[in-house]
This record gives sequence, structure tokens and C-alpha cells, in this order.
Amino acid sequence: MKVVDGRPIFGNVSLDEYRRGPMSDRARRRLVTIPPLDRVDQTEPLRARVYRGLWIADCPDCGAAGMVWVETPVFMCQVCWNGRIGGLWRGVEFPVERGEIEDILEARLLPQEQNWTSETLDELRAENVQHGRPVSARSAEYWAERWEHGAVARELVPMEPAPAEEFPADQLPGDEFQTPGV
Ligand SMILES: [Zn+2]
Repeated sequence: MKVVDGRPIFGNVSLDEYRRGPMSDRARRRLVTIPPLDRVDQTEPLRARVYRGLWIADCPDCGAAGMVWVETPVFMCQVCWNGRIGGLWRGVEFPVERGEIEDILEARLLPQEQNWTSETLDELRAENVQHGRPVSARSAEYWAERWEHGAVARELVPMEPAPAEEFPADQLPGDEFQTPGV
């Protein structure tokens, strides 16, 4: 499974298109107006993380989380609408090793295995090895060879599931969701 940001999840739209569409519709119902993307709070940026194969950020004020866009690294909480900082966008920081992190996580086949917060690349690779996964999804030769010899299916041992965080039933995966206990 590919690790993805908001663009493919919401039908290949930019964050600005999403802002002007579904996000503003939702905000209007709360009598909130979303500012343009360049109205960004200048304090510490949020750190993006991977949750079940999705790049998300967590709201530091209310604990809700939402999808983030790599190409436009800013975040608006769709629960509290960044009210504490006057409704401005928050900056989002993606890890420098984003490509490697995605590559390692994509070698894990199930979305619930694809989580990253602060682990080093070596730690992530060690987890893959521990669970019989290759350390790189992009090593196509490895996969082709394993597939041919029937080894892939035999190695599919379930990994430890992600912590018990679930999308609320009334929200689509990839839409904003609560992160309990944060
Ligand atoms: Zn919030």
C-alpha cells in the first residue's frame, strides 16, 4: 500500500481546492471563514506523522487530526479551526527522510502496519525484518523474485496492529478524525 498525503485521498485536489470546497463548506456551518493558505502562524510548525499509511498532523489544541499535503505543508484543524491562534494556518514539517520512510513503510502490506511518528530509519527497517517484511518496497527485483517462488504469501505474518484509534463511523477514512487521549 502506498503511503499517501491528502491529494489522492480527496480526488487529486490541491489543498487550496480542498480549502475552497469541502473545508469551507464545513467551516461555514460553524460560521467560520477559512483564511487563504498564506495566512500562517509563525510559531513552531507541527510535525507530520504517518497513521495507517496517511500523512496527518495532530491539532495541539484539541487533539483532532487531519490529512496534510506534502506540496502545501500547512494545517487547519477541522474541529477547533485553529481558534487559539486566531484561525490562522499552522505550518507543518515533514521529515527530511520522507522518501525513505515511505519506502520502508510501503514494504509492509497492510495500512494498519504503516505508522511513523519519530522512529529512525534503522528502527523502521528493524521492525520490517522482525516481521518478515523486506526493508524496501522499491527493490522491485526482490519482490519479483519472492513472488515467483511463492515466498511472499508464506511470509505474511500479521504485525502488531496500530493503537486502538479508529475513524469515527460517520467519517470517511482520510477525512479529519479524533485521536483519543492526545
Ligand atoms: Zn483542533
